[in-house]
Amino acid sequence: MFKVPEQFGSMVFNEQVMRERLPKDVFKALHCTIKTGKSIASDVADVVANAMKDWAIEKGATHYTHWFQPMTGITAEKHDSFIQPAEGGTVIMNFSGKELIKGEPDASSFPSGGLRSTFEARGYTAWDPTSYAFVKGSVLYIPTAFIAYSGQVLDKKTPLLRSMDCLDKAALRVLKLFGKTPDRVIPNVGPEQEYFLIPRELYKKRPDLIITGRTLFGAKPPKGQELEDHYFGNIKFKVLEYMEDLDRELWKLGIYAKTRHNEVAPAQHELAPIFSSVNIATDHNQLTMSVMRKLAKKHDMVCLLHEKPFAGVNGSGKHNNWSISTTDGENLLEPGKDLKNNLQFMLFLTAIIKAVDEHQDLLRLSVATAGNDHRLGANEAPPAIISMFLGDEITDLLETLASGKEYSNHVGNRLSTGVESVPEIYEDTTDRNRTSPFAFTGNKFEFRSLGSAVNIACPNIMINAAVADALNEFADALEKAPDFKKAAKALIKAEYVKHRRIVFNGDNYADEWKQEAARRGLLNLASTPEALSYYDRPENVELFGRLKIYTNEEVRARKDILLENYCKVINIEALTMCEITLKQILPAALEFSTRLADNVSKLSALGMTVGAQNEMLLKVSRLINAAYAAEKKLEETQRAVKSETDLQTEANLCHEKVFAAMQELREYCDRLETLVPKELWPFPTYGDLLLYV
Ligand code: ADP
Ligand code: MG
Repeated sequence: MFKVPEQFGSMVFNEQVMRERLPKDVFKALHCTIKTGKSIASDVADVVANAMKDWAIEKGATHYTHWFQPMTGITAEKHDSFIQPAEGGTVIMNFSGKELIKGEPDASSFPSGGLRSTFEARGYTAWDPTSYAFVKGSVLYIPTAFIAYSGQVLDKKTPLLRSMDCLDKAALRVLKLFGKTPDRVIPNVGPEQEYFLIPRELYKKRPDLIITGRTLFGAKPPKGQELEDHYFGNIKFKVLEYMEDLDRELWKLGIYAKTRHNEVAPAQHELAPIFSSVNIATDHNQLTMSVMRKLAKKHDMVCLLHEKPFAGVNGSGKHNNWSISTTDGENLLEPGKDLKNNLQFMLFLTAIIKAVDEHQDLLRLSVATAGNDHRLGANEAPPAIISMFLGDEITDLLETLASGKEYSNHVGNRLSTGVESVPEIYEDTTDRNRTSPFAFTGNKFEFRSLGSAVNIACPNIMINAAVADALNEFADALEKAPDFKKAAKALIKAEYVKHRRIVFNGDNYADEWKQEAARRGLLNLASTPEALSYYDRPENVELFGRLKIYTNEEVRARKDILLENYCKVINIEALTMCEITLKQILPAALEFSTRLADNVSKLSALGMTVGAQNEMLLKVSRLINAAYAAEKKLEETQRAVKSETDLQTEANLCHEKVFAAMQELREYCDRLETLVPKELWPFPTYGDLLLYV
């Protein structure tokens, strides 16, 4: 039997293993590094490496890898075995502190946005002792940061760690004003991961899914999510088996997999872990996604992490629950029972309001991908407009403060189920608002705009940076104030008045909100290219420079990498559509039209009426013509746009022209799908894919 407490973390070189296997002084030194982020001495590293190797070998490892997160969006690994030649043609297993601390992968093929030319391809990986090493398969994985030889950042972990440091320092300054001096302030994140599971056999027949991760064609199934019978519904046996297996694998890797349930769309599910420090949460989320994909294979299924695998069916997101806490265990976003007198909470909250308002562009662009463009603003995910939900109680309090009036605390209403045996529960101080991009949910903020496939590092770098910046500004003002409390209250009022336009507690899906948001002067960056064009605005370059998260060059490089990635995705999708249309869809439709024509001519020869047959033939022939013309247009548009030399212009055109041409082609092909007999249609339909797991 699988005993969870015994198995949990069994493949992780965690604190308990370190304590057991390391000499006391080495453990102490390493522990200090993990808790404070200070660097580690090389003799300590040697001892740690050796213990890590012995432990990993016992777990079945033969290799180690520096595991890192380059700008490709997925993780990278290169395996090296522990073997070292010894006398008499034998080997010993060896792993040094140097190898643990630093690796030198040939970095030339990872995207760098022009930061390094290939002839100076040296990049190196540096051990991140704050995230535990683990064994997966036959490999010891060592979480690392990836940087260029010249020191430039090439990955997602390094800036995330930097942003955590900024937030730590800024928050400590503010806490000091309240007489508090914890060791460290840490942002915590719990990412809820959505995914689809479909049968592997059917997946293999869909080149669009294989090549692009989403269906480029597909008519709506007769039964979608209309009945809303899937959300939290009974979990099918095969899916449950997968979920159980997944939980076990994740637990062994020390991941706090907690909640699992069916999602809104058929074949869609969610997994939520218990929150942890954002660095760990990021590593764990990357690992979770990779285990999800691999394990599905064992269950004859495929796990789709694309943000929009099926048009007309709910897409997948990843809610990023974010809070900040001290090493003393205090959650700084906990309003407590006496909200009105909780000056510290109100100050932190106001800093976040300021941060979100001033850096709407950064939050928006941190979730911008070709895949996520299908979701944002499509009435299933928040709109592209960034706003905040605070709930009535907090908003009332802030509004009262802003108007200079007194405030009386609101007491949560008693909710009763009307059933005696069921205990009464208190209503939360905030209700749920499922439509808000950035919602306060009691003691944390839930950033809901993330797509399911995104690396959560990017959005959290932006949140940490933006909040750190606001807190620093507050600390600058308050450290000088003769009466700190009075000054803090005045600051909260002034900043809230300045930034309250970002607070919106209503329905974010409503059309009126778009108009209202425009009146308030909020940004509405509808597409990825538009959002990315804001990345290197002077104030952003200045912000990242001041916080030492990115240099000017690094910001531009990141923007280029993301724009390039967007263009590549759209290009691949366009080419895949053209190929499928010409090689699969049109031949099937032609076959059907030949059958119809045969039928018409044979029946006519017998002197029978052929009204319906003629009409069907005409319909199919028209659609074949239209699809053929649309394919040609897409091909030409794609070619023309690809020859564009300016990256931003190319990305804009990919969105405006190529994507539009893709939509047109799809429409004709999807209509053909509804007419052509099932046995002639070249691949499984939405109904097949979604309803038969
Ligand atoms: P729901 O779907 O109802 O929003 P879930 O239980 O699916 O809620 O997910 C909530 C997520 O928020 C979990 O990952 C949970 O660990 C996380 N969470 C809870 N409290 C905090 C907190 N203080 N800081 C960050 N994340 C938190
Ligand atoms: Mg959830």
